[in-house]
Amino acid sequence: MSKKGIAILGATGSVGTQALDVIRAFPDKFEAVVLTCGSNAELLIKQALEFKPKSVVVTDPIQYKKVKEALAFQDTTVLFGEEGLIEVVQYAEIGIVLNAIVGSAGLKPTVIAIQSRKDIALANKETLVVAGELIMALVKEYGVNMLPVDSEHSAIFQCLVGEEQNPIEKIYVTASGGPFRGRKRDELLQVTKAQALKHPNWSMGAKITIDSASLMNKGLEVIEAKWLFDLAIDQVDVIVHPQSIVHSLVQFKDGSMKAQMGVPDMKLPIQYALTYPARFENNFERFNFMDYPTLHFEKADLETFRNLALAYETLRAGGNKSCILNAANEVVVAAFLADKIGFLEMSDVIENTLEKVEFIANPTLEDYLETDRLARLITKEIIKD
Ligand code: NAD
Ligand code: MG
Repeated sequence: MSKKGIAILGATGSVGTQALDVIRAFPDKFEAVVLTCGSNAELLIKQALEFKPKSVVVTDPIQYKKVKEALAFQDTTVLFGEEGLIEVVQYAEIGIVLNAIVGSAGLKPTVIAIQSRKDIALANKETLVVAGELIMALVKEYGVNMLPVDSEHSAIFQCLVGEEQNPIEKIYVTASGGPFRGRKRDELLQVTKAQALKHPNWSMGAKITIDSASLMNKGLEVIEAKWLFDLAIDQVDVIVHPQSIVHSLVQFKDGSMKAQMGVPDMKLPIQYALTYPARFENNFERFNFMDYPTLHFEKADLETFRNLALAYETLRAGGNKSCILNAANEVVVAAFLADKIGFLEMSDVIENTLEKVEFIANPTLEDYLETDRLARLITKEIIKD
């Protein structure tokens, strides 16, 4: 069997580095053909020296020069920016594009990869939040596989294998509840970014960790699930499950429920997206019942964590609303991480932005990109005031 060529967009991040762990574990099955990063030149250089990819792409102009110099003596092309990303996802050697970029910057490369008939392993949930309807239409048109990497969506996807004839009644997306589970609004006024960055179960990039604390991550995942699995909004429910062992559940029309379980480790959903429909034997950590004698479940608190309610509202409104939500969220999270706004203010600013950006009922790709740009500007203005 020839090796499967993989492009990892966002190779230096939390998902990207774990994807390289998976590739390292199966050197005769996978080959890293392309690695990309935003600004972590040092790590990308290290990765390129180890994996010897055909190309690397750097989107930060200063870091790009550093990488180009460091790899001058190696047979690896060093490309720059979004143009670079768009070029590399089209390479004939690539069988699958793992998109592990954070934020809406992942949208355009996903579109081009699909149009180049590449299968997609999608960690970049923002792609589907911004333009889910358009993306899933492209997936159909070009006949590619869209394989979820997000653990909840991987769980649902795994539960659906072999059930192609059987419609879903509903799905339950599990949520850990994050570090502030059980707190009320007045207890969240003073929380710091250090507290918000401490996720109880998962170690992830900064943006998604803040999203997990504010429950925006679950809101984004509800939107992601709606488009991925072609569901009505009311078919997507959220259940808080603090242990993060049950990664999500599917309920079928006969009332039967399937869950996918395991220790919280992103390497498994990453690996499954790369090996689907096969399962490769590995030595990742196994679940031990005695470590988790009780699993429990509770309702999500939508009054305290308004972001989750806002996400459902934007789904109901349709058009470019979820795109606005996502752009505003990216800006408020950056502002929170820069100590410019408080934890609870994030939802206020997002809500305000949602009212201010023009609604478009049937957006094109250009409309989404323009909405994303405008919403960021407006969110920044609101924060300044
Ligand atoms: P991260 O911040 O650790 O890594 C992001 C990667 O994208 C880095 O390689 C960075 O250099 C690159 N990047 C950042 N901005 C970029 C830009 N503008 N253009 C091009 N590249 C850019 O993030 P992460 O935690 O690995 O998350 C990546 C994606 O996967 C996110 O969409 C996140 O929601 C999703 N996800 C992550 C996890 C996890 O465990 N970390 C789990 C589920 C889903
Ligand atoms: Mg998730």
